[in-house]
Formats: sequence, structure tokens, C-alpha cells
Amino acid sequence: MADSEQPLLSSTENREKHSVVVIGGGWSGIYALKYLLGEGLDAHLYESRSNIGGIWYFDENENVSGVYKSAHVTSSKTFLHASDFPFPKTIGEFPSHGEVLAYLHSYADHFKLWSNIHLNSKIVRVEPQWSLILNDGLKIIDCNYLVVCSGQHQIASDPRSSYPFNQFTGTFSHSITYKTPYDNKFINKRILVVGGGETASDLAVELSATIAKRVYMSIRGGQWFQARLLGQQPADIMYTMLMRLYGYYDTILVRCWRRIFFVPMWGVGGTGIREWTPTVPFLHGFINKSREIVDHVALNRVIPKRGIKTINEQLITFDKEENPIEIDHILLCTGFQWTHPFFSSTDIHDLYKLVFASGVDGTLAFVGTARPVFGSIPAMAELQARWVAAVFSGRRRLPSEKVMAKSRRAYWARHANLYPHDHKRLKQLVNLFEYSDVIGDELGVRVALFYLFFRHPRSWYRIYCASPWSPFLFRIGRLSSDDEKLAYQRHLACIPEKDQAFHRYNDVMLSAYIELDLQIRPFLRINTKTKHEELTTALGLNASSHPIIARGPVLIHSLDEDNDIYFEFETYEEFRKERLKLNYDSTLKLWYSLPNGLPTLDNNLVRRQTIKQQRARLRKMKFFAFYCTLFKKTFLKKKIQSKGFRLWNETLNVPTLEDESLYGIYKSMGRITTEFLNKGRRYDETISYEELFKAGRTVWFMIAFQMQLNLPLILTDSIFGYNMLYPYTDDLVDSNDVSREAKVDFAKLFHERLLIGEPTYDSQVHFDGKQSNVAELKLPSSLQSQANRIVKIFDMVKFIENDWKRGGEYEGVYMSLATIHESQMKSTLQHARTEDSYAPTMTQVEQVSAEKGGASLIAAGFLIEGRLTRAKIAYLEYLGFGLQLLDDLQDVKEDMKNNHRTIFTQTLAEGRPLDAPTARLIQYCYCAPAYEKFSDDQRTISDRKTGVTLAQYVRVSMMMFSVVLVLEAASRLQEYYSKEFYRELSSLSPFTFNDLKAARVEETLWAIVRNQWF
Ligand SMILES: Cc1cc2nc3c(=O)[nH]c(=O)nc-3n(C[C@H](O)[C@H](O)[C@H](O)COP(=O)(O)OP(=O)(O)OC[C@H]3O[C@@H](n4cnc5c(N)ncnc54)[C@H](O)[C@@H]3O)c2cc1C
Repeated sequence: MADSEQPLLSSTENREKHSVVVIGGGWSGIYALKYLLGEGLDAHLYESRSNIGGIWYFDENENVSGVYKSAHVTSSKTFLHASDFPFPKTIGEFPSHGEVLAYLHSYADHFKLWSNIHLNSKIVRVEPQWSLILNDGLKIIDCNYLVVCSGQHQIASDPRSSYPFNQFTGTFSHSITYKTPYDNKFINKRILVVGGGETASDLAVELSATIAKRVYMSIRGGQWFQARLLGQQPADIMYTMLMRLYGYYDTILVRCWRRIFFVPMWGVGGTGIREWTPTVPFLHGFINKSREIVDHVALNRVIPKRGIKTINEQLITFDKEENPIEIDHILLCTGFQWTHPFFSSTDIHDLYKLVFASGVDGTLAFVGTARPVFGSIPAMAELQARWVAAVFSGRRRLPSEKVMAKSRRAYWARHANLYPHDHKRLKQLVNLFEYSDVIGDELGVRVALFYLFFRHPRSWYRIYCASPWSPFLFRIGRLSSDDEKLAYQRHLACIPEKDQAFHRYNDVMLSAYIELDLQIRPFLRINTKTKHEELTTALGLNASSHPIIARGPVLIHSLDEDNDIYFEFETYEEFRKERLKLNYDSTLKLWYSLPNGLPTLDNNLVRRQTIKQQRARLRKMKFFAFYCTLFKKTFLKKKIQSKGFRLWNETLNVPTLEDESLYGIYKSMGRITTEFLNKGRRYDETISYEELFKAGRTVWFMIAFQMQLNLPLILTDSIFGYNMLYPYTDDLVDSNDVSREAKVDFAKLFHERLLIGEPTYDSQVHFDGKQSNVAELKLPSSLQSQANRIVKIFDMVKFIENDWKRGGEYEGVYMSLATIHESQMKSTLQHARTEDSYAPTMTQVEQVSAEKGGASLIAAGFLIEGRLTRAKIAYLEYLGFGLQLLDDLQDVKEDMKNNHRTIFTQTLAEGRPLDAPTARLIQYCYCAPAYEKFSDDQRTISDRKTGVTLAQYVRVSMMMFSVVLVLEAASRLQEYYSKEFYRELSSLSPFTFNDLKAARVEETLWAIVRNQWF
């Protein structure tokens, strides 16, 4: 007979009556019993297992739910203390399961609970109001009040019988049965861990570090992570009481805070791992505190994946991927069901403040039901237990059923809104600060902050502004009795010792300002879009004069080229040959002639500074940022903008232009950047902001070319297509999932697509910017699995074809794109291999870098102008190589890891420091071609006082900005330089190297311009 069908005993022999019964002897049950007894109630606890401790009572038996052998708590001790019985000081910050169990035993000893605890007593059925049937049905307990503490982690949520898991033909297990990794089902197996919780990451780490062949970890909706430690302190205590001021959810201040701490410290989402980027805002979903997994991802022991798309026997394909992966075993860490099988009807998901059941006159309560986004279940359970005991003893009253029903409806509606991702799955999710205050109010035990502010301001300050949340707060009251003072002392003991991570506000203040502005802007309804006409007028340009805007038959403006000679060619071969000659002359020839030392002071663009001067400059910038935030919407706006431009020019050490022109440039760049991001998202909604940011770097260079040519500043289809094209091709060419054969086939196909075009191309029909249909692609069999990638690549070519007509004078556009692709393929020569001891020579590396760098910039030039003069090509080759070197310097660490040889990593591989190539790169930026003047420069507006043209200003600024980026990259590579050189190099920087590192110049500038910060 099923449990629920058992008849109730009629005899009274085995029947007992208590005032209150507690079901479950885990952490929550123990707390409930203690407080009920403390209120003088006749309370008894029934636990099905042979020990108290709940999941913390470890059992090797797979069929008993509980922790695994290596488990430690993930929330720190601060959140785990009982408010009147702290963990001993000798226990570490993150106790093991054995230590938690010992602590609970000593708690039961201390409060003399044992005589009211009944072990080996499973409640199999509960009848209202209230009779409980035990184990074999031969014993019944009656009671007036019932407290359910049977835990949230007892019954597995197991999706293996539903789609797509039911398609899997390998083996399965659930984390609930996991005890140790040493099990045949894991040994030497390809394991997929499914889930984003702490158990999932702990088990993935353990398996990958021990016996699994390969571990993949799939997190469907991404996940917020945070590390256990910040410096030497537990990271969760950084959520100080001050956070209440920020708000509990995704408020402006929380975002600033996230930007200040989270992202710089742990990366986007807390890991920086793209596949796990969370889809919900910070604090609107559970935070995983087992971040060791990130190290294992970095070591390539755990491979991060998003959700599962399809399963075909043992082949699993993940979202946003094409190629399936073979898996032997799926370890489901899919959580637990919040169910209570001993009830037949009670709706446990509709509790008043997650504690009291409805319709039973307040006689049924649940403890251990709140799961904070960060913090701990036991801390919330203790407050709940105190409240339940106070209500059952009559000390506190519940409102009427009607009021409770109304409150429940509002609660769940808000919950759905706050936790959209977890609302259905994790009804228990709460915010620690908010929830503990709610229950604290019910109990009347919230710390009297208002009172303390006037009577004990120092204590107020320490509690409110300089300490973490702790359970002791709910015993501090007005700090008058000895018990309250003792709780205060215990609370103070949770304050971390001075940790530098808590004292770095200054370094990151700038980011906070940017984020603040970003958030305030929409709120104030500030219009970031300036009309195109306004801008072009500001720049002295004439929008209607350029045919590309109208997207009609493509024409190019006529250059008054004077003595400039156009780059001529008949065939692609000729184009290549000629271009390579120009490439060598304007890049490597110059590079080889450069001295190895840093530039001397004779060049008036080079500026050396003392640390004092560098610090003063930074202070000035920070002050400006502050001043800007306060006054930019006032009559001082114009002054602020002029000051901003002057500061920028001063920092780069470039001659200035008139403010009006600079203002126009700034506005246009912001508008175009935003348009680019929007267009990118419209075309491909799966692309992430980071990918777009990377893709969009060349957008600014292309805008700079438009400026130099006196063209209207707009995001043309070709700018968009070009900037998106190479991330998509990189994705394919660099992917480890794509076979060598497929890559070769793709190279051929793409080359043809660029040089010949589509057979069906019709110049009158413009591509409408929507993703094409994959089914219409005709691909060889080796590329079938890459169709989704290839369709995007070909669409980008279509965007370019919208602007540049094929088969005429603009063939250079397509040929230049083909050369990029060729050099991209050639760059495989840069990969050193251990298998066959292949290592490139420095000459090879230099050649590939020069060709590759130059190719991408001449293509950018062709896409803006359609045709280029030889002088322009030479300049772009020069610039492209410089930018390539900058890129390579920025990526030194990653390239070292991947055995990718650039001029810098090759230098290191040859046992030399980076002094010489870095010095040469800086010399390179200061070389004559950077200051080249072209005949068409005169068409651009100039400063009436100095005569500097816009074109020249843009070119010089680009180079000087590159120098700053070179210095920024170098500042992070101290270990690769000699001490003297590093010191000398730092004197060229506008700020001290330490400040420069923290500034993240490129991202900051991108954010300022994109958001039109001032
Ligand atoms: C691996 C793992 C790690 C965790 N780490 C943390 C952490 O770091 N911080 C944190 O806050 N939380 C953590 N948790 C959550 C954990 O649930 C809580 O820490 C805490 O144990 C909750 O206590 P509880 O008493 O509510 O539930 P449990 O510990 O699950 O105890 C419930 C008890 O009820 C008993 N029971 C159930 N049904 C019956 C019945 N019908 N009759 C009689 N007895 C019954 C069970 O046998 C069990 O002893 C973790 C959970 C897991 C699985």
C-alpha cells in the first residue's frame, strides 16, 4: 500500500501528543527545536536518519542524499554562525562537512536538545491538523503545531526521461548520488556535467582533476560566479551593510559597484567565460561561489558549454555550436525538487513570507525555505525559526488570512519580475538583506540604526558602513543589554582585516562615473542621437554630396588628386604583387632601419615625465570626470566639452583643432558606434557585446578615414560588413572544431566569393540586411556542418556589395579583402608545434605580420574610398603593420600560451626581453609616415589659427593614441622587460604605469564615446 493510502491507527497505544512537532533534524530543524523549546513549548523533533545534521551528515551510501566526501560549505562562516552560538575561532572560513556536523552536535549539546530529538523516525504521512504517521505506520504523533524542516536538497530534480536527455544512450547519474570520483562510471570517461550551481562546479573540478578523460560543463542560461576569496578574505563579506544604500537589485549603484569590484576582479559574469555569460542581471539570480572552476577552464580541463541543443545517441550539440561532442556519461547537477511527499494537499509553494501555510489557522510552518542569492540558508532558517516559535507561543501574531493572501499574491508577482530565470525553478530565491529585514521586522529584532545614529554614532558607522552582514545583527538591538553588547562584539569580529581589495576605489572611480552616466542617461531621457545634418555642418561637410548615403548606383567622389597616382592593376596576381612591394617598402624596410632604443627628446612629440607630473595629470582627469558628471547638463556644458578636448589633446600631446570640429567628431563617433552595435544585434541576435566591441575597433579607423577625406561620417554598409566579416571568418579559421580539410575548402570558396562574386548578383537589388537562408547555400560536403557560419560570412560580403559595384573600377575593394583572407590563412605559419618541432623564424614572423596588418588597413581604405592612390596604400600599409604590432603586444600572454609566434613572442622564445621590439614599435609610431600629408587633406576644414587640417589632426592623434595603447600593453608585461628599460618606458606614459594599467584606456574611451559621456 502506498504511504498516502495507509489508514490511521485507531488504538491509542502507539499514539503520542505534543504541542509542536518538527520534521527533520538538519540545520533548520535543530534551530526550530531550540527556539520552540526556548519559548517554553513542548516541542519534539523527528528525524528519519540515525544522526542529526541533514545533508551535512556524510554517508558513503549512494542512496542516502547528502554531501560528497570532499564537500566544504561555499558560504563563509560569517553567514553560518548561529546568532547566539558562533563557530569556534579555530575552524577555517569554509568549514568541511565534518566540521559543520560537529558544530551542530555541540549546538544540540549546548542548548540541551537531545532529549527532544527522535532519530530513525521517518514521517511517512501527515494528516491535518495534525497527525503524523511514522516509519512502518505503527506509531502516530498528534500535535497542535507542525514545523516542516525536511530540507530543499533531499529529492533530486532529474530530467533524464524528458527531451533531449531521453535521446542519450550513454550512462547517467545525479549529483545526489555522488560521493567520490573513484567510481567506474567516471573513470577515463568523457563526462558532461549539467548545471550551474556550486555542486556542478565542485564536481566538475574534482572529476577533471582526478580521473575523468574530459569534462564538459553545460550551463543553459549562463551563471553569475564569484570567488570564495578576495585577497585573503572570504569574498561574500564584501557585501557590507552599506549595500542597502545601493539597493537590493540591479540599481544604478549596484551596477557601479559591480563595475568597480566584480568585472575588474573576476571578469564579465564573474568568470569572463563567454559561454557562461549570465542572461539575468546581477543579483537577479543565484550566485555560484565555487569559482575554482574558472582555473580548470583556463587549464583546459573543463570545457565550458552553453545549453544542450540536441542529443543524438552519445553525440551532444550545444547552443551556438555546430559540431557535436561525444559524451560517455552525463552527471546531472540539475538541482532538487522542493516537495514534501508526506503531505497530500498543502500548497507548500504558496507560503506567507516563505514560512506560514495558508488555510490552517497558522498552525503549519516551514523553516529552511529561503535560499539567498548570496549568504546562507541556515542564517535565514534561524530567523524563520525564531519567528515561528514566537508565533506558536503567541508572542507574535499573524495577520488575517485575507491580508496574508494579498501579500502572497504581491510577493510572487514581484518574485517573477525579480528572478525571471529562476522564478519557476527556485521559488525559494531571496535577497539576503531584504529577506532578513522582512523577518527581522516580523520579530521586532532589527538593529535600531536610527537610534544608534544619534546615541552611538561610532557603532552606527561600524555596523552600517564598515562591516558585513552577519546573523549577530539581529541581536544587537539598541546596544543596551549585556547580550546586545556581546552580539555587537561578535559582529565586529566578522569585519575583515584591512584588505587592499576593499581600498581600490580611487583606481576605478572613472569606470564608476561612466557606468553612472550610462544608467542615468536613459532615465533623464537625454537624447544621445544628434541629427546627421547637425554633425556634418559642425564638421563643415555636406551630407548630400556623397552618393553612398543614397545607396543608389555606386559612384565615388572625384578626388582632385594632383600628382597622386592611382594604384593600377589588371588581375588579382598583379594586385598582390604590387601591393606586396608597397607593403615591404613601407613596413619592414622602415622597421629594420629603426634603432633599438627609445626615442630621444629631439622629437617634440615625445614627452618624458616625472611620476609627480603623471600623477598630477591623472588627478586632473579624475577631477574633470567628477566635474563633468555634476555640471554637464548645465550652462557649463560648452566649457566642459572644450575642457575635455583640451585635456585629451594635452594627454596625447597633439596640436589641437577648433572645439567645434572636435565636438563634431566626438558626436559622430558616438552615434556611429551605437548604430554599429544596434545593427550588429539586429543582424545577429546571438552575438555578444564583447564580440561586437572587438569587431568594432576598426569602425573608428574607418570613420577616421572618412574624416580625412571630407566624407560625411556615416556607418555605411561596407563599414558594417567589413567589421563583422573578420570576426566571423576568424571564428571559423581559428576554430578547433573545424577540420583542416574543411578549412582548405572554405579558403577556396571564400576566395571565389570575394573575387568573382555571386553568379546571381544584381547591382540593382540591394541586400536588405537580414540573415540569408542557410538552405540556399550550395556547399561541399566538408562544409555542410559550417553552413550557419558561412552564411553570415557571405552576408557580410553582400553588405559590401551594396556599396561597391563589381566588375569596374572598384575591384580593388574585393581584391584587398581577398588578400586579408590569404594572410589570415598564412598566419598558420606563426604557430609553433611541439608534435613535429616546427618553429617559425623571425623573418617569417615579421613578413606575415607586415602582410597581415597592412592587408586589413588597405581593405579598410578601399572600402571607404573605392580606389586608392599609391601614396595612400603605402601609408595604410605602414599604419596597418603598426596596429598589428600593437595587437600582438596586447596579446603577448595569450600568444605565449597558444604557441603563437609574433615579433614579441618570437623574441621571448629566442631568450631575449621585449625591450628592443617595444622600443622600435614606439619609434615606428613617431616615424615620418605618421605625419604624411596628402593632396586631398586641404579639403578638410582646418584650424583658422594654426592651419592644422582635420585630416592631419586625425592622423597624428591616431598615432599618438597608439603610443598610449602600446604603453598600456607594455605596463602589464613588466616581467618581460629589463628593469631599466621598464623604468625608462614608464616615463613616456601620460600616467604612472600603475594608473595606466587600471585605466583600461581602450574600453574606457569606447564607453565614453559610445555613451557621449560629456
Ligand atoms: C553539496 C551541498 C552543499 C551545500 N553548501 C551550502 C552552503 O555552503 N551554504 C548554505 O547555506 N547551504 C548549503 N547547502 C544547502 C543546505 O541544504 C543547507 O546548508 C542546510 O543543510 C539546510 O538545512 P536543512 O535542515 O534545511 O535541510 P537538510 O540538511 O536537507 O536536512 C533535512 C533533514 O530532514 C530530514 N527529513 C526529510 N524528510 C523527512 C521525513 N519525512 N521524516 C523525517 N525526517 C525527514 C532529512 O533526513 C534531513 O536530515 C548545500 C547543499 C548541498 C547539497
